[in-house]
Amino acid sequence: MQVVLLGSGSPLPDAHRAGPATLVRTAAGDLLFDCGRGVLMRAAAAGSGAGAFQGLFLTHLHSDHITDLNDIYTMRWATSFEPRPLPVFGPAGTASLLAATEAMLEADIGYRLAHHDDLTWRPSAVVTEVSDGVVWEAGEVRVSAAATDHAPVRPTVGYRVDEGPHSVVIAGDTVPCDGLDALCRGADILVHTVVRRDLIEQFGLPRLLDVLDYHSSVPDAATTAARAGVATLVLTHLVPAPAPGTEPEWTAQAAAHFDGRVVVGADLVTVDPAEDGP
Ligand SMILES: [Zn+2]
Repeated sequence: MQVVLLGSGSPLPDAHRAGPATLVRTAAGDLLFDCGRGVLMRAAAAGSGAGAFQGLFLTHLHSDHITDLNDIYTMRWATSFEPRPLPVFGPAGTASLLAATEAMLEADIGYRLAHHDDLTWRPSAVVTEVSDGVVWEAGEVRVSAAATDHAPVRPTVGYRVDEGPHSVVIAGDTVPCDGLDALCRGADILVHTVVRRDLIEQFGLPRLLDVLDYHSSVPDAATTAARAGVATLVLTHLVPAPAPGTEPEWTAQAAAHFDGRVVVGADLVTVDPAEDGP
């Protein structure tokens, strides 16, 4: 098992950070969690792509986490040699999101079907709306979901991937909550979206202050990791994006609450559970 941050950014466009997306590479293939801005560019850099995803798992339907769903939907279809529906898992509302995405692409679908004689099928997805429990299984690999707390955004879910003795949790956007604690218990790696409360309060912009009440701060994420006995905490979706050289501040804020390994995320950072340990 290996975790690759395809996008470590937030809704705010950033020259160096794609939108939220995390790839988990397993013996059963590549599993993608969220699909923010630029996801397929970063997937290409990691040697993956729309045709390689065994499943797309959405934590919630905030725009920054689904920006490039249409790109995945189109590329999986237009580069295929046979019909290969995209398996999509997500909270209630995911099915209508996929239907709306297909409707948005209707002109393009028509152009390509008319132009390519060997492309005789439409793009498609198999959508499973999830809330908790095991949602996907193949061989030794299992994906479970649990409800998280990103209110007033509802519903939202986090995911855990287990492969043999190894496990990774993708928290998505959430404040500390029981559902996330249950997913995290004893996991090797926790990939958690975080915001810097101290910096956001200094900026004092109302639109930015609003994000504080439904995201975890760095200490919040570290406390969740410590409570669950996680080995490695990976900070992603960093708001605001760290100025160059300030990454140690993020690490220090986490280390004040958590004894394990802390990784300050950047695009294409790869984390291997075998590297666990101080
Ligand atoms: Zn969100």
